[in-house]
Formats: sequence, structure tokens, C-alpha cells
Amino acid sequence: MLKKSSFLMAILTVMLLGGLLVSCTGDQEALGPPAGSDDDPQDEDPQEPAEPVDYEALGVNELGQIMFLMYHEIGEPEAEWVRTPDNFRKDLQALYEAGYRAVSLNDVLDGNIDVPAGTTPVVITFDDSTPGQFRFIEENGRLVVDPDCAVGILEEFHRQHPDFGLAATFFIIAVAPFGQEKYVQQKLDYLVEKGFEIGSHTYSHPYPGLGGLSPEKARQELAYFIKWKDQYLPDYRVRSLALPYGTYPKDMSYIIRGEYEGIGYHNEGIFLVGANPAPSPFSGAFRPEAIPRVRASEMNTEGTGIYDQMQRFQENLQARYISDGDPNTVVIPEKLAGELKPGLEKEKTIITY
Ligand SMILES: [Zn+2]
Repeated sequence: MLKKSSFLMAILTVMLLGGLLVSCTGDQEALGPPAGSDDDPQDEDPQEPAEPVDYEALGVNELGQIMFLMYHEIGEPEAEWVRTPDNFRKDLQALYEAGYRAVSLNDVLDGNIDVPAGTTPVVITFDDSTPGQFRFIEENGRLVVDPDCAVGILEEFHRQHPDFGLAATFFIIAVAPFGQEKYVQQKLDYLVEKGFEIGSHTYSHPYPGLGGLSPEKARQELAYFIKWKDQYLPDYRVRSLALPYGTYPKDMSYIIRGEYEGIGYHNEGIFLVGANPAPSPFSGAFRPEAIPRVRASEMNTEGTGIYDQMQRFQENLQARYISDGDPNTVVIPEKLAGELKPGLEKEKTIITY
């Protein structure tokens, strides 16, 4: 039997060694992560005697809001709809340091939010499948991911900070996605293999968006996206849609689910263009057919850009989703119990404090 103090020493040593290991592998970028390391976060959680989480001290609130960040092009120079590679890196660093962890959009739709206790999930999304989001370049006769494109930056950041997570959703326009036409198949395969998600941004991004089209034309745009996707990824299920120009009709039923020429689609999560954090998926206020996004920009955002919202969360921690670390429970301050999504108790263990 170990005495308590030597037990603590042992734990400290393990933590220290673990930290050293992370910083060592982090420096060897060229080697990349060892196989299977994408699933590491679980390995770091020792399963046995889990420390009880102090909800009060961490301010756990799984009814707090979540940011779905909306990016467009990654490139030079910075503009309203362009984020430079360095600014994108800066955003990831700022999020990481402020306790945000990247989660996949579909996991949020499923209410399966698996981030450490005390941290806040964030969803990273990209619209328009522009070249700077995913570019292959040739290096010594080999095809590699451009380290300055969004995919390259996300992967490198994840190598340096494995506990940030590696997750993003690409809302693709079917017409010539990511610019390099000859690599469409390779890029889609690559994204899926790495666990990134593919969402619909309609077949052709028609102006002025789905709100301005006849129901028939809108159904065609949505179904043709799926038809295009099926050529490359027949087994992949597209579950989300970002509305081009953010416009939508009054009747959302045929945007959510429908069919055209025998091709069906089901958009479980539908995303707007602006301008606020979204309610928690456990909240009665969460509307999957109209999920707002935060513009990941510092230009013309009128106080609603990424840093404005982070600042707001910093000043009002209660507004922000803070996890208890267990995806199977929903932990909230007692006074918020009335805001829970009706019926949630059938899916989750609810804990109030
Ligand atoms: Zn768009």
C-alpha cells in the first residue's frame, strides 16, 4: 500500500513525464503523430477512481452557449471574408488558451459532447470550399497538404496541442470544390479519413440563396449536392447544411428533408450566417434548423466577431457552456432546470447542483 504522499509523488512524476513526452513529440513535426494517436484524449483519462468534479468551482453549465465559428477563405491578405493563415493560427491559440476544445458538429447535434471537465466545446466550420481551405502541394515529388491551408494548420495545431482536438466541418459547394479539380476524390477521402465532416452548401450556391428559390429549385439544389457527393463518397452521410447567403424560406420543411428526381436528403442541422453563439443542444431553445454562427473575423463584425464573443463569455462565464467531462450526463446549475429540452431525461442523466 502506498502512503498518500508517495502516491501523490507518483502521480506528479507521471504527469511530468507525460508533459515532457508531449513537448518532445510536438517538436518533431515532420514525423507526425504515431498511428492511432487521434484517439489519445481517452487514453489520458485514467478510468479508475475518477476524481469527483467540483461543479461549483469549475462553473459547470451544460446549458451554456456554444460558438459555431464560421470561416470562409484562408489566405492573404486579410479581408472581410478572408482570414490569413497566421490569424487563423492566432484564433486557434486564443481558443485553446481560453479553455475551448474543438468538437465535431455532428457530435453536438447528437448531444455527444466529450471534452474535459471545465472546458468549453467549439465547432469550427468553413463555407464555400475555397482553395485556401484545403490545398495539396508537391514536395519532392510527393503530394502533401499545404501547411498554410486550413486543413494543414488544423493538423499542425493538433500535433502541437493534442488535447485541443481535431474537428471541423467543411460546407462544400459541389462545383469545383477547393479549386484543384483533379484532387477532389483524394481530398474528400482525406477529410473523411481524418474525421473532418462534410456538409452541404448546396450544389451551386445560387443567388440569393434558398430563400429566393422556388421550392422545386431549392429541392434540386439540395438533392444535386447529394448526387454529387455520392459519386465520391457513396457511404458518407451528409447531415448538415449551411445556407448560402444565410437566406431561407418561411417553410423550412422541404429544406430539412426532401427529395428530387429520386434523390433524398436530410439536413438535420441547418446553419445561418450570423451572428451569435448558439444555445446548448440540451436547451429547449436549441433549434437545429436554424443554428446561428459566429463570424471568425475581426473586420466589420459590429461587435459580434470571434473575439467579441470570447470577451463576452469571459465577462459572463454563466453564458458559456462548461463541461463536467462526462458526455453521458448533463450537469447544470439548479436554477436553470426549467430551460432543459423537454424529454432530455430519457436520453441523458441530468444532474443539477
Ligand atoms: Zn457561401
